[in-house]
Amino acid sequence: MNMKIEQIERSDLFQNGVFLTIAGPCAIESADQFESVSYKIAQMDGVHALRAMYRKPRTNPEDFQGLGLSILPVVSEILSATDLEPTRGIVDILQIGSRNMSNFDLITACHKDGRPILLKRGMIATIKEWMGAAKYAGLDRVIMCERGVRAGSEVQDTRFTLDIGGALVIRNKYGLPTIGDPSHAIGFDRKLVPDLARAIAATLDGIEIEVHDEPDKALCDAAQVKQYDLSH
Ligand code: PEP
Ligand code: MN
Repeated sequence: MNMKIEQIERSDLFQNGVFLTIAGPCAIESADQFESVSYKIAQMDGVHALRAMYRKPRTNPEDFQGLGLSILPVVSEILSATDLEPTRGIVDILQIGSRNMSNFDLITACHKDGRPILLKRGMIATIKEWMGAAKYAGLDRVIMCERGVRAGSEVQDTRFTLDIGGALVIRNKYGLPTIGDPSHAIGFDRKLVPDLARAIAATLDGIEIEVHDEPDKALCDAAQVKQYDLSH
């Protein structure tokens, strides 16, 4: 599925049971870095879309916010409705981040835009709340992404707790395509990302994963990003 997506349909992403793989660094750090990263990712088998985050919602204002593209369809987070117009023709899938899952004005603006929406679960959102947000996004064009919730174990040991059971309810009970993000879920230790990725591959419809050519030097989420070789 290597197409430039103008008007991508949800069925295009999930045809023939293809497992959707979205990969890219946490953030675009510089034009050079992004060019080399995206080139390497495009040469890998089985990657369908590029994570290209030119703006980052950070919990701490002093953290790196990203720069502000491609040979694969591009997924990028939309932080405000004013991002929609400048990204037309560049960003193919609009990501709504965890911190904006309840920003219904933003989600409604993205819905009206017409591009597919990758809706990440709010980090304290119930399934019902996540489904409510999906209705604002439009049930026919939304891709749900479980990225971990706050459940207790994460304070010291994991960054969040990946709720595969909750994601399976979204997928099996409500019939929405549902992918998982192992990177933010287990973000304190990148060595654990592949096993969580395997758990996602065994259960859900796809994955969004952070990769970097020099993970230790990543400006954003260095602890969780993987080297390119995603096979182990
Ligand atoms: C991201 O995917 O870049 C991100 C910040 O994830 P989340 O919104 O799930 O925290
Ligand atoms: Mn990140």
